[in-house]
Amino acid sequence: PHQPFVFKVVLLGSSSVGKSSLVIRLIKNDFKEILPTMGCAFFTQMMEIDNSALKLEIWDTAGQEKYHSVCHLYFRGANAAILVYDIANKDSFQRAQNWWKELENEFSPDEIVVILVGNKTDLEDSREVTLEEGKAFAESKKLLFMETSAKLNYQVTEAFTALARELLKREEQNGGQ
Ligand code: GDP
Repeated sequence: PHQPFVFKVVLLGSSSVGKSSLVIRLIKNDFKEILPTMGCAFFTQMMEIDNSALKLEIWDTAGQEKYHSVCHLYFRGANAAILVYDIANKDSFQRAQNWWKELENEFSPDEIVVILVGNKTDLEDSREVTLEEGKAFAESKKLLFMETSAKLNYQVTEAFTALARELLKREEQNGGQ
């Protein structure tokens, strides 16, 4: 049997936007590891896309934004990033755009797959960032985009699947290098 492809995925975004909740929703009872080291947590999730097995190694920061700078290995070797904001918090959308700038400085566009995720769609009544604003930013930077609700389990799997599919596509284009 083929070894599964393994991809490192980093979660980025303001604290409380729902990063941990999205991962917990994805992996549910199926998580393999939690290593809370210096505020970082590490999860693995197997996925199958079009008969290809892949493993996502998802790096979270245990909700503490300041630990991003402490975890100096955080970005290293990342294949993908999930930029999360809260649709009911304009500041968090700005912050996601700032994280994008940091990624842009760190990686060339073909090195990393990025998905912008507007979480908490269940808070429609207090929405501060429109679907169109999220979409427009993602399109302008060629990012994948999805609105989700970790609370309602809305499009969470779809977001990770879209990311995984793009990672596999690039792997194939690079001939497995
Ligand atoms: P993190 O700091 O980005 O990892 O965010 P957490 O996952 O710890 O979530 C922060 C808070 O937002 C918690 O109280 C969660 O229950 C809540 N939360 C997370 N996702 C959602 C969501 O989709 N909708 C709502 N209404 N609350 C959410």
